Amino acid sequence: MFGMMMQSQLTLTGIMRHAQSNFPNSEIVSVTADNPQHRYTYRDAFTRAAQLANALQKLGAQPGDRIGTLAWNDYRHFELYYATSCSGLVCHTINPRLFPEQIAYIVSHAEDRWLFIDPMFVPLLEALAEQLPGVKGYVVLTDSAHMPDTSLPNAICYETLLESEPTEFAWPELDEQTAAALCYTSGTTGNPKGVLYSHRAMVLHTYGVLMPDVFALQGDEAVLPVVPMFHVNAWSIPYAVPAVGAKLVFPGPKMGCGETLSNLMQREGVTIAAGVPTVWLALLKHLRETNETIPSLNRVVVGGSACPWSIMQEFEEKHGVYTHHAWGMTEMSPLGTYNARIPATVPADEAKALRLKQGRAAFGVEMRIVNDQGQPLPHDGTAFGALQVRGPWVCERYYRAEESALTADGWFDTGDVATIDPQGYLGITDRTKDVIKSGGEWISSIELENFAMTLPGVAEAAVIGVAHEKWAERPLLILVAAPGAQLDPQAVLAAFKGKVASWWIPDDCIVVEELPHTATGKISKKDLRQQFADYQWPEEATA
Ligand code: AMP
Repeated sequence: MFGMMMQSQLTLTGIMRHAQSNFPNSEIVSVTADNPQHRYTYRDAFTRAAQLANALQKLGAQPGDRIGTLAWNDYRHFELYYATSCSGLVCHTINPRLFPEQIAYIVSHAEDRWLFIDPMFVPLLEALAEQLPGVKGYVVLTDSAHMPDTSLPNAICYETLLESEPTEFAWPELDEQTAAALCYTSGTTGNPKGVLYSHRAMVLHTYGVLMPDVFALQGDEAVLPVVPMFHVNAWSIPYAVPAVGAKLVFPGPKMGCGETLSNLMQREGVTIAAGVPTVWLALLKHLRETNETIPSLNRVVVGGSACPWSIMQEFEEKHGVYTHHAWGMTEMSPLGTYNARIPATVPADEAKALRLKQGRAAFGVEMRIVNDQGQPLPHDGTAFGALQVRGPWVCERYYRAEESALTADGWFDTGDVATIDPQGYLGITDRTKDVIKSGGEWISSIELENFAMTLPGVAEAAVIGVAHEKWAERPLLILVAAPGAQLDPQAVLAAFKGKVASWWIPDDCIVVEELPHTATGKISKKDLRQQFADYQWPEEATA
């Protein structure tokens, strides 16, 4: 017997209508290249989204067409999110930090019809335009006063495009399975792969993000997504915030600048912000140097890579800000797990160990770990294996792929290696390809990095496996010293004794000026491995 409830479709149009009816006066504040302090309301934003939807129709966009964006976090990008998805088009966000060849590959693979680009990326696209015959034209996200001279074919100024369009649009009633957005994985191996999000997945994911033990967003908050809108829809913040009517604060191109973030947070009364660890290192450094404080801020969400304890500690002890550790990936829209506030009654050591983990699955996500034969391992907090997931916002197959991306029994393999404890806490120990295989056993590079980050004078730490005659691979620790600090490699290695299993202790430690980072701000282990391809172990380490 079926239930007898309405078959309302779960679409992003529903979020837009809800925000329009209930929170028309909530604000969106942005930094853009042409305005350091743009401010308007949801009413204005969705009116302009309607104008943009009309304009896209006039440009000949057909249902399902991919509309590419190379843009920062700002109000025009927000308008694009809603105008495209809610009119039946696909918002394809492109990471401008990728290599030009990768951008050309992604635009061609997605068959983008129009590209909406920040003025900063005009030279990049001019150099690529010949390789992109399928792109009908380029819309530059600026006003006529700032429109650059360009050789791009069919270049249009965004504000001119919107100017004379009607402020109403007949938004179609979409099937909830309609594609809403497309995002390519950063592609550390092989070509980037496209993840095609449906309206239904995005709406369910929005509910997941909003839950009390996840972001717990409320209408009277101000939210600063420092995670880029070109990377997994800024963790869905542009959908979740309008769903509750909170204020949205966009940092524009200044995402990695501690001073900009601090100023924005103070001026706009930001209560919650989300970003990768490197962003928080920049903010904390700025706060240390200037003695500034951000009284309104009460929590930050950290994900994308493991959050070092030093970040959690400094936020909490100096600023009274609670750090929530989260884990997810492009293929999961991206929310997988979230580390909710640990009650103050939990003893400090236990609380620290729990907070360094990535948290519990958000309702909607199921997780398991399996061994090399695909057999499930116990959730005892010790056994570690390949982490697999399933749920309504997890990718089933990549865009334009013939086959499913799932295992024979319907799980998605994340490429991460993890433990799960009896209370459901996930501990990511590595990426499958980064785990160090020493004498048939696995060593977690993340655990070693986490410990290295607790040592005084260490600004950044990475551990890679380097070929070893006897053990197949051994861990090599590579560090960046904090400004003004001197690191003694031998003393650093000695500090590991008694803190990790003796055979986990790295065989050598090297201090470098800087570590390579990927286009999404993570330490690039792939580049590091290349950099140290000719590395030779010291004599005593080869014994
Ligand atoms: P991406 O698809 O680019 O967002 O990358 C997803 C990958 O980032 C995951 O599969 C993990 O390897 C890594 N990752 C994300 N969040 C965390 C975290 N909190 N701790 C450790 N690794 C993380």
